Amino acid sequence: MTPFRYERALDARTAIAVHGGSSGARYLGGGTNLVDLMRETVERPETLVDVSRLSRDIAELADGSLRIGAGATNTEVAAHPTVRSRFPLLSRAILNGASGQIRNMATVGGNLLQRTRCLYFYDTAARCNKREPGAGCDAIGGFNRMHAILGASPSCVAVHPSDMCVALAALAAEVEMEGAGGQRRMALTDFHRLPGDEPHIETALRPGELITAVILPPGPFAARSVYRKVRDRSSYAFAVVAVAAALDLEPDGTIRDARLAFGGVAHKPWRAWAVESALRGLGAAPEAFDAAVRLELADAVPLPGNGFKVDLTRRVAVAVLSELARSVP
Ligand code: SF4
Repeated sequence: MTPFRYERALDARTAIAVHGGSSGARYLGGGTNLVDLMRETVERPETLVDVSRLSRDIAELADGSLRIGAGATNTEVAAHPTVRSRFPLLSRAILNGASGQIRNMATVGGNLLQRTRCLYFYDTAARCNKREPGAGCDAIGGFNRMHAILGASPSCVAVHPSDMCVALAALAAEVEMEGAGGQRRMALTDFHRLPGDEPHIETALRPGELITAVILPPGPFAARSVYRKVRDRSSYAFAVVAVAAALDLEPDGTIRDARLAFGGVAHKPWRAWAVESALRGLGAAPEAFDAAVRLELADAVPLPGNGFKVDLTRRVAVAVLSELARSVP
């Protein structure tokens, strides 16, 4: 590990000032990904600004939204009574990720910023445009079973590893950020970027900006929502494919609104906008779900090693939507 300077910030303003927008500075949450990357010398920060003790509150706002401080641990969020009752999809997604010990350390802000688990990204002997812009991508002609089928580019085919962010995308969460220029908010679906020809730029954060919270708007989806993760072993594994789904139905079974997001298939949590728009006003039937999901996946471009993901994503999405339609709230 390369030597670095460590500072613990006691408030957001101090953290932002110490960071200073320097390319050699990193904010440190629970360290469950960043420290691994530092051990592998993939990340070599000169300064770590510890923000793990900031913004841990989870509170309901006057408009019915839930504000989750960026320093709250994954365990605290998953176990929070309001999250469990009003946003059970988020609890379930978090509990599908990592291990209990890691969830106890990992923070909400860090979860949003975790890096891909592409094997070549962690192997400093491999070519990787994300680690070293312009170097090439060994995953494209290599072992790419776990890589992207949607939104990838000739520069990078990595996927985002988070479970929590897939649920947040489906729940239309917003990210609150603070920097030298003040505070701002943006939709989580705009926060993470597709790789394009700059896969090393993964989010919309400006230099030195700090994530301070995630905001969940009120919604009608608590009664019918689910997170389904397909993985190679039953725990502590990243998603091969994951689906966050929610339905809001009229009394006669017509779909008033639907939410769907995919994990394990793209460089960012993939909100399935085409599915949602196709389903509004239809009857909640497996045939309708299948046709809508096929629309979304029509743009999928699988790699030699992961063609199975297209059909797997469709089957999991149709299955969970059909289960939600049959469920009695
Ligand atoms: Fe690097 Fe992306 Fe290629 Fe993986 S897929 S080797 S992260 S450029």
